[in-house]
Amino acid sequence: MNIYNLTRDEMEEYFVDHGSKKFHADQLFSWLYEKRICSISEITNIKKEMLEQLSLDYSFSKLKLIQVERDVDVCKYLFELPDCEHIEAVLMKHDYGNSVCISSQVGCNMGCKFCESGRRKKVRNLEVFEMVTQLLMIEEDLKERVSHVVVMGIGEPFDNYDNLLKFFLIINHPKGLAIGARHITVSTCGIVPKILEFSSFPLQINLAISLHAPTDELRNKIMPINKAYPLKDLISALEVYLENTNRRLTFEYIMLSGINDTAECARKLAELVGHLNCYVNLIPYNETNNLEFKRSSTIQIMEFYDILKKNRLNVTIRREFGSKISAACGQLRSKKEEL
Ligand code: SAH
Repeated sequence: MNIYNLTRDEMEEYFVDHGSKKFHADQLFSWLYEKRICSISEITNIKKEMLEQLSLDYSFSKLKLIQVERDVDVCKYLFELPDCEHIEAVLMKHDYGNSVCISSQVGCNMGCKFCESGRRKKVRNLEVFEMVTQLLMIEEDLKERVSHVVVMGIGEPFDNYDNLLKFFLIINHPKGLAIGARHITVSTCGIVPKILEFSSFPLQINLAISLHAPTDELRNKIMPINKAYPLKDLISALEVYLENTNRRLTFEYIMLSGINDTAECARKLAELVGHLNCYVNLIPYNETNNLEFKRSSTIQIMEFYDILKKNRLNVTIRREFGSKISAACGQLRSKKEEL
């Protein structure tokens, strides 16, 4: 087991189970996340016997950083995991702070037709420590704090639900990375039972839904998950989520030329989500060499935007980062593994 897998409560339980003191949990959290120790031998306020036990039970290792591509306002990190699999994370420097997009799985089983990550089947879920230490290592590289986290890298986070929630508890904890829940966003392709479960999770984490199509007919074609959870079920789950949490949702909508970017699609989208407390985020598609989809023209995106605006939706167009450095959506990992 890795020590960065543990939430503060789990650490407390561990110390109590070993006949030791509860408050060691806070101390250990502080060694890991405030003082950022590199080895257990640096810990000075826990008894030697307890530390010996800890080092028998837990590894304190992080990931291996094997490549960084740097641009002015974006950096892309490629990490190697203990079993030699690769994952990527992207840092975006905004005027409001440093935002990191992390991966939640090795590969992905959702099979979205336009997505590079989906070309590779899921190998496994990431463990909690593999998500947490992506952030620790980026902060170490950057020598600055990460203020915002989005779980929008490789993988479907709600297909790794239990680990995801522990990750949130650790990075949100005041003695952990202390990242405010409102600065954390998770994006899902629409796994309905997990959306319902998430509506009673106590932290106020932002939820984004990868919608990408306003009808079942079209969504079935580009996102196979829609066959399991069609739009009617998705929208009712989101109504429950909004009712329970009193929050605002984000819908992500990738603009794919000639596929989902027509005026009719825009009107249908407004009809579908107009009654919900939400933003629609239009995303210029990042073309990849391996998939045949093309991005919509700027004019097409603006027309789509205008129709949504006229229908009184809150709409934004995503600022683009890193298309130059293959920062988008599984491209770096794909390159690495095709070498
Ligand atoms: N599985 C989750 C999170 C990972 S994908 C989800 O589906 O939400 C993060 C976002 O990037 C999703 O909205 C996904 O549809 C989108 N995406 C995938 N490939 C893309 C590409 N080539 N260009 C732009 N966005 C892409």
